[in-house]
Amino acid sequence: MARALQLAEQGLYTTDPNPRVGCVLVRDGEIVGEGFHARAGEPHAERHALAAAGDRARGATAYVTLEPCSHMGRTGPCADALVDAGVARVIAAMEDPNPQVAGNGMARLATAGIDTATGLLESDARALNPGFISRMTRQRPFIRIKIAASVDGRTAMASGESQWITGPAAREDVQRLRARSSAVITGVGTVLADRPSYTVRPAQWTRADYHRQAGGQWVRQPLRVILDRTLQTPPDVPVVSAPGHCLLVAGEQHPGRQNALESAGAEVMLLPASGSGIDLKQLLIELNRRECNEVLVECGATLAGAFVREGLFDELIVFMAPALLGSSARPLLGLPQLASMSEKVALKWQDVRQIGDDLRLTLVPA
Ligand SMILES: [Zn+2]
Repeated sequence: MARALQLAEQGLYTTDPNPRVGCVLVRDGEIVGEGFHARAGEPHAERHALAAAGDRARGATAYVTLEPCSHMGRTGPCADALVDAGVARVIAAMEDPNPQVAGNGMARLATAGIDTATGLLESDARALNPGFISRMTRQRPFIRIKIAASVDGRTAMASGESQWITGPAAREDVQRLRARSSAVITGVGTVLADRPSYTVRPAQWTRADYHRQAGGQWVRQPLRVILDRTLQTPPDVPVVSAPGHCLLVAGEQHPGRQNALESAGAEVMLLPASGSGIDLKQLLIELNRRECNEVLVECGATLAGAFVREGLFDELIVFMAPALLGSSARPLLGLPQLASMSEKVALKWQDVRQIGDDLRLTLVPA
């Protein structure tokens, strides 16, 4: 199963909106076939493993990181393919997270006389697909907020200048966070101040994985979402013109600006406004509708603070640079003043490591 999880991880940047899944077929203590799901529309992991094993799949044990599908896809359910190949035993790391189909694949196998078990290395399997699981069980994407800050918790100068707080290794790590995301969310303030493009540029990566998966040419760009209540985004900024799809979310009608942005290739949609911004719950409903699994919030303190204030985040990643920006610089998050310690936003450490000269702190809601 550990090998199957390794294989599944090879689809980290490419399977979207499908889950990352790996499969290993073992007979007489020997691996006879293995595979992973690479891309939506291409065969599932089980199909690749069965094709590699051929006749040697008969009597084998299949280790799959996710319950085999039982629904009719383009090539029929994987559960049936495992039965047809004469596999003797199927061990799944986890059930299908969709409550409407959970257990059906394993039940189909058991009915055909195959030995089944679920739950081997389950927490590792779940960690591979936080977004897919979130979408299936909570009808919203998995939300990861990324912030670059100084040791004194400052994210930008008072003027708004914020680029290059962290070093090249941290920025490269952000590329990987972006590449695994279905969408990147930012606010118009960041677009105006930093002129980011939010594209994935795998040429900068030291790891060869991405290129190998992508065949050296295919790069899936995350949807770029700009929250821009009054449509202040100029049509000629990189986030609009870069490769991939740019979605501007407005809170009120501005037909002239909308036309200009649409002519520049962006999509503009209207969602209910909330305070000075956009209703974030409505935004997440929309992103769920678009089958976004993981979303990365890369923005300034105000918008990031709004996500935290509403409890709409699953992971907070702070890249901390060995520098001090001073007390007039902008804070980590725009949060209202608390009256007492009991109102604090409680977090739990999940991971702490050094990335180049910076620290990467991963926190989750307590
Ligand atoms: Zn399948």
